[in-house]
Amino acid sequence: MRWDIAQLIENTDPDWITSKLEEMVESANGLARKYRGKINDLDAKGLLALLEARDDFSLKYEGVTEYTSLKYSADSTDAVSKRLNEAVKKSGTKAGQALAFMEIELGVLLKVKPGLVTDPVLHEYRHFLERIVRRIPHVMTEELEKLTMSKDQNGVSAWSQLQGDWLGTRTFKITIDGVEKTMPYGEIISLYQSPDRELRKEANRVVYDGLGRDDQLWASAIRSICGDHLQMCEWRKYEAPITQSLIDNDVEQAAINALMRTMEESVGAYHRYLRLKAKLMGLEKLGNWDIVAPLPGVPEKKYTWEESRKEVVSAYRSFDPEWAGWVDEMYERRHVDAEVRNGKRSGAFCASWLSGKSAWVLQSFNGQMGDVYTQAHELGHAVHAYLGSRHQKPSNYEIGSCIAETASVFGELLLTDKLLAEAKTKEESRTILATVLDEFGMAAYQVSARVFFEQGVYEAIKEGKFLDGETVSDLWTEGRDKIYGDAVDWLPEMKWEWTMKPHYYIPNYRFYNYPYVYAQLFVFALYRLYKEQGRAFVPKMKTLLAAGSSRSPTELAEDIGFDVTSEDFWRKGIQQFEAFVDQLEAAIDC
Ligand SMILES: [Zn+2]
Repeated sequence: MRWDIAQLIENTDPDWITSKLEEMVESANGLARKYRGKINDLDAKGLLALLEARDDFSLKYEGVTEYTSLKYSADSTDAVSKRLNEAVKKSGTKAGQALAFMEIELGVLLKVKPGLVTDPVLHEYRHFLERIVRRIPHVMTEELEKLTMSKDQNGVSAWSQLQGDWLGTRTFKITIDGVEKTMPYGEIISLYQSPDRELRKEANRVVYDGLGRDDQLWASAIRSICGDHLQMCEWRKYEAPITQSLIDNDVEQAAINALMRTMEESVGAYHRYLRLKAKLMGLEKLGNWDIVAPLPGVPEKKYTWEESRKEVVSAYRSFDPEWAGWVDEMYERRHVDAEVRNGKRSGAFCASWLSGKSAWVLQSFNGQMGDVYTQAHELGHAVHAYLGSRHQKPSNYEIGSCIAETASVFGELLLTDKLLAEAKTKEESRTILATVLDEFGMAAYQVSARVFFEQGVYEAIKEGKFLDGETVSDLWTEGRDKIYGDAVDWLPEMKWEWTMKPHYYIPNYRFYNYPYVYAQLFVFALYRLYKEQGRAFVPKMKTLLAAGSSRSPTELAEDIGFDVTSEDFWRKGIQQFEAFVDQLEAAIDC
C-alpha cells in the first residue's frame, strides 16, 4: 500500500507549495508584528486570543509542511521532494525564529501576573501555562541565552560531532568463514543479530575492543560534557543535574524515584526470563551477545498485507470498536505507506495530522512478524492522534516521551494476546513471547542500567573523583550489574559499552534514559489494569489519551485513579511482565 498524501493540501503543484511556505513565514512575521513587545500588557482575554492565534497558525500551515516532509520521507531521491524539503526546513526555521519571542515574553508576563495561570478564561491552556511557569526561574537574560547558544555550537556540541565522525569513519576487522573482512561500524553491528553465536560474540568483542582503545578520548568527552552541564546547572539555578530533564519531561522526582526503585527491586523477574531464554537456546547461561539474539531453529511465519491488516484491526477491536474503526480508516483512506521502495526512509513512524483529525504512518512491510508488530505500534500512535486531535488544541498535543508510547505499546500487547490465542504450536508461542519479553527487557531493564550509570557519574563528580576511562567503565559495570547481576556473562570488552551511546555526547540530553523506562513500565502497568478491570478500563484509557499534553503525566494517571509516585502502581507493570514470563515457561517442554 502506498499512501495518498495529496489529501493534506489543496494543490500539489510545487510552485503553489513554495508560495504557501512563503505565506507561512509572512504570517509568522505578522503575528510577531502584532504581539512583539506587547505581551506584557495582555489580560486573560488578550492572552487567550494570542494563544488561539498561535494554534490557528499551526493548524493552518500543518498540511503544507506535513505534505512536504512526508513526501521527502517517501522518496528522498526525487528532485522535487528534495527541493521542497529544503524549502520547508528553511521556512520552518524562519517562522520559528519570528515567533521565538513569544515564550520569553509569556514567561515575563506570567512572572508579573501569576494569577493568569488559574484564570477560568484560560482554563484550556492551564497546563501549557504551568509548564512555562516551571521554566521561568531557569531562563537567563536574552544576552546570556544567545551567548550560551553560540558557545554550545562550537564547544560542547563538537563532542557529539566527534563521536559521530569516529563511529562513521572507523572500520573493524573480523573473520567470517575463514575470510578476514573489514567492515564499517554500521555494518559490523548487524552481526549482533546473526544466528551464528560465535560470530555475534566476536563482533561484540571486536567493536568494543576498538572503542576501548580510544578510552582517553571518550573519557575527556564525558568529563567535558558533564562539567559543562554542571556549570550550566549553576547558571540556570537547577537544583540537581536531573532537574532540567524533569522539567522538560513534565515529571516529578518522586515519580522517577518510585519507578527506578521498582526496576531495581524487580530484577529477579528479568533474571528468570534470561534463564528461560538460555534454556531455550540450549545454554547454561546467556552471554551478553545472546541477550537479544533470535531463538534458534524457529521457522519464521510470514504474513500477507491483508492478513496483517486483519490481525491488527481485530487486535484493536478486542479492546474497543471505536479504536478499531479508526485503525481501519487509516488503511481505508490510504494513510499508510507500507510498500518497500528505493529512496524511502528506513524504519517506521507515525505523524499526527491534527487539522485532519487523523495521522500518517510509514513503514516498509516485508511480511515478517516484526512488521505486523510495527504496524500495530504505529497505528497505536494514530489512535492517540485521533483522540488527541478531537479533544485538544495543538498546544495541548505536544506529547512528551513518558507518555508518547502509551497507545503504541498498548496496541502491541493487544496484538500479542491475539497472536498467542491463535498460535498453533508451542514454538510459535515462544517466538511471540520472546519478542515481547526481549523488547521489554531492553527498553525497561537495560535502559535502567544506563540511568543508574548516569546517576553514578554525577555522584562520582560530586565526590571529587577524576573520571578517567577505567573509572567511567567501573561506573558503567556497576550500573549494569545492578540490573543483570550474575544472570549474564559479559565479555571484558563490554565495559567500554558507554563509549558508543550517542546520547551521552549530545548537549542538553542529560538524563535522557528514564523516560523510556517510564513509558515502557507505564504501558505494562496500564495493560495489567486492563486485564484486571476488563471493559471498565476502556473509558479510562480513552480519557488518558484524549487529554494529550493538557495534563502532566502524574495528573493523567491521577485522573484515572493511579498514583505514579507509588511503587504499587509501577509493580503492576512488573506483574504483567511476569505474566508473560509465566506463559513462556508454560510453553517450554520440560
Ligand atoms: Zn513509537
